[in-house]
Amino acid sequence: MTVKYKEPAPIVDHLNPLDSMMERFSEAAEILGLDESTYNSLKSPEKTVAVSLPVTMDNGKIEVFEGYRVVHSSKLGPSKGGIRYAPSVNLDEVKALAAWMTWKCAVVGIPYGGAKGGIKCNPREMSVGELERLTRSYTVAMSDIFGPEKDIPAPDMGTNPQIMAWIMDEYSKLKGVASPAVVTGKPLVLGGSLGRVEATGRGVMVSARTAMGKLKINPAKSTVAVQGFGNVGSISAKLMALQGCKIVAISDISGAYYNVKGIDIDEAIAYLKNYSDTLEGYKGAEKITNEELLTLNADVLIPAALEDQITEKNASKIQAKLIVEGANGPTASNADKILNEKGIIVVPDILANAGGVSVSYFEWVQNRLGYFWTEERVNRRADRIMKQAFETVYAASLKYDVSMRIAAYIVAIDKVASTRQLRGTY
Ligand code: NAD
Repeated sequence: MTVKYKEPAPIVDHLNPLDSMMERFSEAAEILGLDESTYNSLKSPEKTVAVSLPVTMDNGKIEVFEGYRVVHSSKLGPSKGGIRYAPSVNLDEVKALAAWMTWKCAVVGIPYGGAKGGIKCNPREMSVGELERLTRSYTVAMSDIFGPEKDIPAPDMGTNPQIMAWIMDEYSKLKGVASPAVVTGKPLVLGGSLGRVEATGRGVMVSARTAMGKLKINPAKSTVAVQGFGNVGSISAKLMALQGCKIVAISDISGAYYNVKGIDIDEAIAYLKNYSDTLEGYKGAEKITNEELLTLNADVLIPAALEDQITEKNASKIQAKLIVEGANGPTASNADKILNEKGIIVVPDILANAGGVSVSYFEWVQNRLGYFWTEERVNRRADRIMKQAFETVYAASLKYDVSMRIAAYIVAIDKVASTRQLRGTY
């Protein structure tokens, strides 16, 4: 059996993502006039679980892996969030990603709290058997945390539908009941949802189109640069091209590729599928650096690769009028002010890439109903969620005279804080 794993992010010398998240959280909380007790209760995760996972490797030796699950909030409903397998996984990163999930679910109005999990490992250097044993061992360790009504994992960097299938299987065996709704992002045959694979890129496209409408950018006359050509980047690029935009640059770990006349995205996707794991050697464009891609003269920039790509070092050189964040945390908090001063509109990650968790929610709903929707129905409902969320955040940005990013945090924090108030604390 061959299993294709997503490219884990290389370790980058980035700012602590928890600090980036907290800076924006604090700014929004101050504007909202959040009282101290609410502020304190929302800034810390509800539950932090760290486990040591001994796994027998193929060579017979036992290796011990660090695993985490952080439940940031369950105020709006069961907590939801992916599991990351990468050598760079650490508790601060998992805490930041868990809080982002809380804000993301609240922004798009789905009845979930936020969580995230991670295992410090390198999935590319592990066999399928080792990954299966590690995943089952993690599921056993987290069996009291996970649950269709408690905490629902999903794939993130370094994990994939096969890993979700193992979690679903192990959890169902432990509980003695079939529990497909314990995890989303499953293979279709095990209860996955149509449209899930494309959902994040589709939501990025819907956010970009809505923002372009506000900025009076005509898609047919616009140029777009996309950083990252994995699930989110390649599908965003493909769907933006279908809207009539000219995709002038794409990139992946091998570098960036630029063509002023526009890149044929279907051809680039086919190149990736048929010839190589990366775009290395792709002939449809001239090679440039990833740094050059970020500062290109294109109307729209879609960072869809890693955290902290736009920083105080390069923000002043960015020429795009609109940035739509496909990745989680691609803009460091120290770049926000520079982008605002330049008048660049940023559709923030917790809004722009929320199409994925929205369709994960649909997968969970379908699993609980035992009834499956058509792709057309999934897409229609997801597009509606994304458009409504965009308009809510846009209206808040006008009301409070703040960036779309701070407006998204305001919308989210307000919702979670009022739920906390209604549920009460003793
Ligand atoms: P992926 O592994 O499918 O793709 C990542 C892409 O980034 C690959 O093309 C990789 O080569 C490229 N990349 C890696 N390092 C790079 C570098 N230094 N410069 C340029 N490109 C580089 O991952 P994905 O699922 O597309 O996720 C991308 C981002 O979107 C992550 O931040 C992830 O957390 C976020 N996200 C993903 C989803 C989803 O549903 N997949 C949902 C929400 C957010």
